Formats: sequence, structure tokens, C-alpha cells
Amino acid sequence: MNIDDLPIRDDLRGKSPYGAPQLDVAVRLNTNENSYSLPDEVTDAIGKAVQAELRDLNRYPDRDAIALRTDLADYLGHGLTTANVWAANGSNEVQQQLLQAFAGPGRSALGFGPSYSMHPLLAQGTGTRWIGALRDPDFGLSPSAAREQLERHDPDLVFLCSPNNPTGTALDPEVITEVLAHARGMVVVDEAYAEFAREGTPSALGLIAGHPRLVVSRTMSKAFGFAGGRLGYFAAHPAVVDAVQLVRLPYHLSSLTQAAARAAVAQRDVLLATVEAIKEQRDRIVVTLRERGYRVADSDANFVLFAVSPGEASGDQKVVWQRLLDRGVLIRDVGLPGWLRVTAGTPAETDAFLEAL
Ligand code: PMP
Repeated sequence: MNIDDLPIRDDLRGKSPYGAPQLDVAVRLNTNENSYSLPDEVTDAIGKAVQAELRDLNRYPDRDAIALRTDLADYLGHGLTTANVWAANGSNEVQQQLLQAFAGPGRSALGFGPSYSMHPLLAQGTGTRWIGALRDPDFGLSPSAAREQLERHDPDLVFLCSPNNPTGTALDPEVITEVLAHARGMVVVDEAYAEFAREGTPSALGLIAGHPRLVVSRTMSKAFGFAGGRLGYFAAHPAVVDAVQLVRLPYHLSSLTQAAARAAVAQRDVLLATVEAIKEQRDRIVVTLRERGYRVADSDANFVLFAVSPGEASGDQKVVWQRLLDRGVLIRDVGLPGWLRVTAGTPAETDAFLEAL
């Protein structure tokens, strides 16, 4: 008995689930988590906040998560308010809700690969036709190339990812304005790694005021070190928030999640203090690998994409991935021939990775 013996949807037959390996090895640099565990003052604050909810667990949580959305709007700035912000269990969930509301059966979504592997999977799960447009061979994306592919396919929803996973580089802001000017449908800019961007790389948040079809998706999984807490959110015109309420499950965010996330946002100065340390390790990986003759993509994120063979020769990334794992270092094979992605973690983890490589 397996999946194919069940009356499963035809479009899901033979498909594989998202699955970065979760292996118990010493150095785990494969899912772009924040390597730093939460400091005691934050765990104390989260513990108190969660404790305060326990007696009322017989009641449903605030369905609209108003207090949390207000806190997140305050964190984002740019004049955004509660009505501009929506939250769910990870940015994967907010993106799924956006597809449910604005794409789905009979509609299409377009992304510029290589990019975040969940975008096409979320499209598939929501019955949305996926259009795999391409970035340039050097992983860049020019405004004209983006516009040309948009005009060719005319999607109902466009995913842009900036900084882009798995390449690490932020988009030229002109790409975003060009796409906004020419897209008929919704434009979702996935900014999961925005807090790690290099100096001078602007967020698309500043464009929301003038663009009602723009959605900027964020997460607490990376810079906030809150991946296990599952909290993602987006900022957009208030009408977009009204639209996702048509598809969200009632009470989708538990009162424990809302309380824990609020406590974490309140402690943001402490939590985000790891960002600078992580950027240092990211830049150290880029510089060191380039000194060793590797091709490395510029990174505005907490990870680095590199070609596994120094020089121009192409190497087999699967072999290098396995050999690193044999040495106790788990990184990510994103399925790009000749390339691997490594998360920037602590200085000791960077030492271990560089040494093993
Ligand atoms: N967007 C991008 C680009 C990501 O890399 C990730 C995490 N790998 C996510 C969204 C989803 O993160 P989460 O659901 O934990 O918020």
C-alpha cells in the first residue's frame, strides 16, 4: 500500500515532499537557521508570556492576532500599521494563503529560478499552474529580462525573492519597480533574509504605500532565531490582508504562538544582536573561498552559494556534499549542478566548514 493506491489528486501523483535532511551531526549548516540559541533573558520573557496564556487555553486565540500584528508593524516601520500586516505559522503559510487568495485553479504563478524551492511546491499544493522563469546564467536578473518574461507569461502572481535563496544576492530595486509597473497580478517579494542585507540594499517595504498589489513577506525564522516558533508575516495594502482572511483557517495562530512571538519581538534588540556576528561569518566565508579560487555568489543573506570546484572546472556537488557530511558538516545541495549552499553560523562552525572543505 502506498500513495499511488490511494485516490490522491492526479497532479500530486509521483511528487516528493519538501525535505531538507534533518540529520544529527555536529555542524548543521543546511537550512539557514540562526545558529545561536536564545539567550536566557529572552527565554525567560517568552516563558512568562506563554505561562500567562495557559489558564485561558480553554478559549480560542485572538483570530485576528491584532496585538502581534501591531508589534510587527511597529518593528517594520515605514509608516505601516496593524491593518497593513498579516501573520501566520511561518512565511510558508502566508505565501500559501496568498496563492489561495490570488492564484489557485485556472491561474498561474511565476518565479525566477534558481529561487526558493517552496514557491513551486506551494503553487502545486494550491492547484496553481507554475511558470518557472529563469534568472541570468550568473544568477542575476535584469529589469528588462524580468519584464520580458512577465509580458510573455502574464502570470496572476509573481514571486521575487530578495535576498534570493539559494543564490544569496539581493535584487536590484529597479527589478522590483519594473515588475510592479508591468505585472497584471500580485507581486510577492519574499524578504525572509532582509535583516542580513549589506549596507545600501533597500527593502521593498518602502514601496507598499504606492503599490496596492505589492506584498512583502518576512519571517522570524532567520534573523530572530525563532524558526521553531513558526512565525511568518507580510506587509501590504490593508485590502490584501482582508483578502487572505477569506482563506485562512479560523484561529490558525495559537495563543501560545502569538504570546511567544510577541515576547520575542519585544526582545528584538537582544535577538537581532546575532545578525552582525552572522554577517561577519558570511563575509568571511565569501572572502576565504574566493581566496582559495572558488566561484562564490555575492551574499546579502545568512548563507553562501559556491561552486564546488576551484577555478572554472565543474565539480560534482553530490560528492562534495557527502564528503563534508562524512567530516561532520551538513550543508545543502539545492540541486544546482556544481554548486552547494552553506549557512553562515558561529565562528566555530565556519572554522569546521572551511577546514572540512
Ligand atoms: N522564504 C525563503 C526565501 C526561505 O528561504 C524560507 C526558509 N527556508 C522561507 C521563506 C520560509 O520560512 P518560514 O516558513 O520558516 O518563515
